[in-house]
Amino acid sequence: MADNCIFCKIIKGEIPSTKVYEDEDIIAFKDINPAAPVHVLVVPKQHIESLEELDEENIKVVVPAHRAIKKVAEITGVADQGYRVIVNCGEGAGQTVMHLHYHVLGGVKMGEKIL
Ligand code: AMP
Ligand code: ZN
Repeated sequence: MADNCIFCKIIKGEIPSTKVYEDEDIIAFKDINPAAPVHVLVVPKQHIESLEELDEENIKVVVPAHRAIKKVAEITGVADQGYRVIVNCGEGAGQTVMHLHYHVLGGVKMGEKIL
């Protein structure tokens, strides 16, 4: 847990969120500023700043994170129609919250282009 991290505060229940899914390793909640009809953040509970901070020990969070992404897609009803998963890594890629998270976006027809 990091003291001044907004996602750590959500995990600790100090800041409210609209929770979609939770298990031992992961919390998933609605993005406060959604970019699509379905926009959920899948967040490992362990404070890891970004993909760049993954190492041989903490990389084990990736498996429960991907499992949770599938569950969130089912819960939000986008599993069949398709959804997009984005991880911004570093300020240059638009990362604003320095706690690793996966954006799960869906509920709208998306184009083939990423950018
Ligand atoms: P990123 O730019 O990849 O770091 O994404 C951070 C995301 O967190 C943005 O899409 C924000 O809208 C979202 N966000 C920031 N604060 C909150 C919050 N308190 N509850 C839910 N989502 C948040
Ligand atoms: Zn954190």
